[in-house]
Amino acid sequence: MPKLFTEAKKRLREAAVHMKFDPDVLEMLKYPKETLAASLLIRMDDGSRRSFKAWRCRYNDTRGPTKGGIRFYPAVNFDEVMTLAFWMTFKCAVVNLPFGGAKGGVAVNANELSKAELERLSRAYVKAFNSFIGPDRDIPAPDMYTNDMVMGWMADEYSAIVNQPSPAVITGKPLALGGSLGRTDATGRGGYLVIKHLERDLKIEPENTRVVIQGFGNVGFHCACLLHADGYKICGLSDSKMAIYDPAGMDPHAVHEHKSKTGSLSGAPTNGQAKEISNAELLESDCDLLIPAALENQITHINAANIQARVICELANGPITPAGDRILNKSGKIVIPDILANAGGVIVSYFEWVQNKAGYYWTLDDIHSRLKERIEPETRTVWNISLEKNIDMRTAAYIHSLERICTAVTAHGTKTFFST
Ligand code: NAD
Repeated sequence: MPKLFTEAKKRLREAAVHMKFDPDVLEMLKYPKETLAASLLIRMDDGSRRSFKAWRCRYNDTRGPTKGGIRFYPAVNFDEVMTLAFWMTFKCAVVNLPFGGAKGGVAVNANELSKAELERLSRAYVKAFNSFIGPDRDIPAPDMYTNDMVMGWMADEYSAIVNQPSPAVITGKPLALGGSLGRTDATGRGGYLVIKHLERDLKIEPENTRVVIQGFGNVGFHCACLLHADGYKICGLSDSKMAIYDPAGMDPHAVHEHKSKTGSLSGAPTNGQAKEISNAELLESDCDLLIPAALENQITHINAANIQARVICELANGPITPAGDRILNKSGKIVIPDILANAGGVIVSYFEWVQNKAGYYWTLDDIHSRLKERIEPETRTVWNISLEKNIDMRTAAYIHSLERICTAVTAHGTKTFFST
């Protein structure tokens, strides 16, 4: 598998072909602005000590303080963190947030740690990176296997270090610590709003649309519930261990309840007779709308030709490789790209940061309507660019965000002094 970062940068070149592109910007976006690696040494419950590798990368801050989640996952590595930070740069620009891109990660299987060990690890992360992050510098948030509880511990640790409450340093916090209403389901809701907004363009009708979602975590679950409530038929769901598929459909709430009770999707209630299949089989199953909401690199040159869905909406970051993308585009599939489709999370994170800075808190209705107001026009612009230039939506989204980044670079720069 080619390195994720090398692959990710191909998207830039693909977009640059279609626009007037300042080479200074390409040079600037080639490498991250700064990265920090650390080893987090914590005390385990049995008294032993264990080290975990950790990273934080601030990719680009031309448009504002950097923003991006922290991922706790065994396979996390520097290449992945840097790539995710690169994607965050474009995601923030595509939905016009005054932020640059960042990301963090710890190589750990969070499920193997006790709650106390997880808290020590979360606090150790902030101790190691406290001078790198900051409310006007770099603002973390949750990502895979981190949640509001972890964000709460991290905000508390940072506040202790700087000796004053500092809620704006991190988003996705519990409500009691300055979190925002509507943050938990924001990414799934953003994806739902994007699909809903494009329904007519994509020629989809909820009641005739069979949906398959890979990954039944925070993002996958909330998006499934919103689509289900709207009349879409949820036919397939998966977690890291297995997938279930039932053409007669299923209620994601009931599946979630079953998984919470038993720890497994196996035997979950569905409308008919569910088949238990692998994650790989789920991606290729018969459906109209496929939503990858788990990991990177799930649809590649190996399986892209077998994807049956006509529309693929990327709620995970980077679930389709450039080679997989080319095959999907050639066969007329429509891919709604991650930097737009999963931007709901960072949009509501931005709302949380604004509320923390202002010390004034919005209602849930405010959050929902502001999220809709922000994501719909950007979706429309991306869709229109793709129509005007006859290109895929991903390239259109990169063009849209690159134009904003280029404008900011030019506004910062002094190039004209040298070229006269
Ligand atoms: P989560 O930890 O809540 O859920 C992850 C899901 O992926 C779980 O269902 C897990 O079982 C499944 N999974 C793990 N390993 C898998 C494997 N090998 N094969 C198939 N499934 C596997 O995480 P989340 O917050 O829902 O994030 C999911 C994706 O969405 C990630 O790519 C993340 O970067 C992206 N994302 C999340 C947010 C957010 O606000 N949480 C925002 C933007 C993007």
